[in-house]
Amino acid sequence: MQFIIFGSPGVGKGTQAKIISEKLNIPHISTGDILRKAIKDETALGIKAKEIVEKGELVPDKIMGGIIHDRIMDDDCKNGFILDGFPRTLNQAEVLDEILTKINKNNLIVLKLDAKDSVIINRLSSRRGCSNCGAIVNLADLKEGNKCPKCGATGTLFKRKDDEESVIKNRLEIYEKTTAPVLEFYKERNSKVIHIDGSQSVEEVTNAILEQI
Ligand SMILES: [Zn+2]
Repeated sequence: MQFIIFGSPGVGKGTQAKIISEKLNIPHISTGDILRKAIKDETALGIKAKEIVEKGELVPDKIMGGIIHDRIMDDDCKNGFILDGFPRTLNQAEVLDEILTKINKNNLIVLKLDAKDSVIINRLSSRRGCSNCGAIVNLADLKEGNKCPKCGATGTLFKRKDDEESVIKNRLEIYEKTTAPVLEFYKERNSKVIHIDGSQSVEEVTNAILEQI
């Protein structure tokens, strides 16, 4: 089964993608991870991507699509995969569709995690970043005041600019605007689109996904 997982920042896509990947024994393909790996491994596309990233520009959809294609052709994807982070725009959906059609894997199931803005804002505004090790933690998970649970440093947890309420609201607005056409695209292509209430607990969300696929 081929999945793409979809949802606003903070809705828990990465967490669910990882769990579903383990439950179904198919790889979780995070586009951020495979881009970094292609650059590190100096693949043909990785070298191209590196030049662009170093200029501070966004990797074009075609190149990202090529990197995804290379990853999907790996042996461990023969029974399926769960793609996380791509497509985020209509153009990316078209690029992906072209790739998957060529290799006869365009039978996608779209998992869309939904949550109200207020839920997302609550979640993200209680996140803190560690300036020492880069960990991102939730205030609710802190046991000892301002101490990083990952590296043990104290006084290093701070609210990231990305997690300020006004920034989150702006990100959610942009997200809705760019991704609504992507969902339409898949509906028109008769892909199975499953909406899941992402404001539930991690376990409830996983169960809801597994029940509906
Ligand atoms: Zn830390």
